[in-house]
Amino acid sequence: MTDLTGKHAVVTGGASGIGRAIAAAYAAAGARVTVADRDEAAANTVAAEIGGTAWVADLDDTASLEGLSLDADILVNNAGMQVINPIQDFDPAAWRRMHRVMLEAPFLLIRACLPHMYANNWGRVINISSVHGVRASPFKSSYVAAKHGLEGLSKVTALEGGPHGVTSNCINPSYVRTPLVENQIADQARIHNIAPEDVVEKIMLTECAVKRLIEPDEVGALALFLASDEAGMVTGASYLMDGGWTSR
Ligand code: NAD
Repeated sequence: MTDLTGKHAVVTGGASGIGRAIAAAYAAAGARVTVADRDEAAANTVAAEIGGTAWVADLDDTASLEGLSLDADILVNNAGMQVINPIQDFDPAAWRRMHRVMLEAPFLLIRACLPHMYANNWGRVINISSVHGVRASPFKSSYVAAKHGLEGLSKVTALEGGPHGVTSNCINPSYVRTPLVENQIADQARIHNIAPEDVVEKIMLTECAVKRLIEPDEVGALALFLASDEAGMVTGASYLMDGGWTSR
């Protein structure tokens, strides 16, 4: 059993889906958890459920993160969103917003945490990337580019943090059963010109050998391992949880 007693974990996007599952797993392991999310009501609900604290923050406002100092021992960069469109139709403002939330904010939050982690000679940075951090799909130019960037940021953090007891890793899931995926079904149906009820089978599971969505708790279990003392030699890695997608 992983024991995170005495550790402070900050989980961005902790009010829903994968972040919520990770926040719950860490709290169950004894960590003090801060649920960072722009959705105030949902953040308060999750924080109350797990005995944690809500931090209402819009990570799109990256200027507000520049002077930040955080006493987190474990940082989970998880907040994210999806917008699907062909490149020629992709709204540049949406493209940039996704990069701010999914790449620039993780950089600024890591930057805000490292002095505390280095002072304690212990830290865990866990970046929720995606199978799209190592593979591309059409119509996801911003998402794929941001996740590939996050992979690079994670590796640099691993190299700089290694001498200070700080590890940095990515988790790379295929499709997980969360609101982000449920909200994507209509867009995928429109852009691929298929029926919404066919999207999971024909688009989301085509490449996977295991033909099902991932449950958020399965990602939570991997994030718990990566936060443990036993994972101290695991760094700069990208952990695929993709039902075999990238085995092709
Ligand atoms: P979700 O929509 O269920 O949860 C995302 C959370 O992030 C929400 O609570 C939302 O309020 C928060 N958030 C979004 N923008 C924010 C902002 N600007 N500031 C603060 N909080 C913000 O999504 P999810 O499926 O749990 O996704 C979480 C992460 O996992 C994302 O980075 C996503 O790219 C990644 N991921 C998801 C899947 C999947 O299939 N669901 C697969 C691979 C990777």
